[in-house]
Amino acid sequence: MRVLIVGGGVMGTAIGCELAGPGLEVTVLERSIPGAEASTAAAGMLAPQLEAQAPGPMLELSMRSRGLYPAWVKALTADSGVEVGYLESGALQLAFTEAQAHELEATVAWQQAAGLRASFLVGDEARALEPNLSTELVAAALFPDDHQVDPRRLMQALTGAAARRGVRFHSGAVRGLLETQGAVTGVALEGGALTAELTIIAAGAWSSLLPGVGVDAAHLKPARGQMVELSLPAPPLKHVLKSGLGYVVPRADGHCICGTTVELVGFDKRVTAEGLASVLGAATRLCPALEDATVVSTWAGLRPWTEDGLPLLGRGPKPGLLVASGHYRNGILLAPITARLLGQLVRGDRPTVDLTPFSPGRFTSR
Ligand SMILES: Cc1cc2nc3c(=O)[nH]c(=O)nc-3n(C[C@H](O)[C@H](O)[C@H](O)COP(=O)(O)OP(=O)(O)OC[C@H]3O[C@@H](n4cnc5c(N)ncnc54)[C@H](O)[C@@H]3O)c2cc1C
Repeated sequence: MRVLIVGGGVMGTAIGCELAGPGLEVTVLERSIPGAEASTAAAGMLAPQLEAQAPGPMLELSMRSRGLYPAWVKALTADSGVEVGYLESGALQLAFTEAQAHELEATVAWQQAAGLRASFLVGDEARALEPNLSTELVAAALFPDDHQVDPRRLMQALTGAAARRGVRFHSGAVRGLLETQGAVTGVALEGGALTAELTIIAAGAWSSLLPGVGVDAAHLKPARGQMVELSLPAPPLKHVLKSGLGYVVPRADGHCICGTTVELVGFDKRVTAEGLASVLGAATRLCPALEDATVVSTWAGLRPWTEDGLPLLGRGPKPGLLVASGHYRNGILLAPITARLLGQLVRGDRPTVDLTPFSPGRFTSR
């Protein structure tokens, strides 16, 4: 069976890796280079507990994916020879006011009740763990099982492993879907067409722009995130730090990835003065030692935002079409579970996660 995957970001490439094997001829179609968009702009936090507002299908999906990560990256490294910077760093959510501290206490309580590891620390306890934390800190929540990966290296490993497993990469922009008797039978490209039994849309923030996909562009659109990479001679932190202001992801080599903004400004990837001021202001408030860091680089990426914050996973509006998009702020985290679920759908197996909340049909355009 021939399968076409539109988009060579973390989703398309991870799905390609999952599907590659006997009986399936898999092609990833990418108009730029694999990973050129959101997937290499990401910080790489694997942090369902840091992100979760409440129990629910998103937390369950994210926890499943986090659980898959160690074995998944091990297999990718074995197949590609690329080490992906998977680091079991743990994460701290920081509170700078009493009101925020009360919110953190409530978060820790519901997560513990849900069986997750989390603990509440007063400011001095948090600073004993991380001496470079701000002295203004009132409290913190520790999530010891939230970790990180380096998304750029992950993309290198994914493309290497996919190629090794027999996935083909085809360079070109998809213009629309081919249809025969109401079923999707491939894609129209700039200079021709490719046919397939199954087509999977994994085009990130651009997924709703493809004619025939049937997802309303008001419900799936780009959300810009601006980022700054800093470096110090030695790592100033061990844990990922986050607060309502922003976050800092410390890599093992002393570099820190600092984020971010969330801006619904269309397909505009500019880095702005206001964005940088906000990201750097947050980073240095969380960890004042970063004031002396060197600015290595700045960039912005476009997350695939959805109106309800849930991804689109499952069958499209027509036979022959599947969708894996809208992973918003958690696509790096959700790549292994997305690949596994799409693999189950393609092979005709029952998905091991209830996909009802993630149905692409909830955003169907006319
Ligand atoms: C600043 C920032 C920080 C983030 N931090 C984190 C984080 O810490 N943890 C986390 O889990 N997630 C994070 N994310 C989210 C994560 O990066 C995304 O959810 C994920 O990368 C989405 O992957 P994707 O493959 O769907 O999209 P993309 O990576 O955007 O890939 C889509 C691909 O489709 C291609 N394409 C589009 N249209 C066409 C077409 N018509 N024809 C051919 N090709 C096409 C594009 O060129 C692109 O390469 C962050 C995102 C940003 C921007």
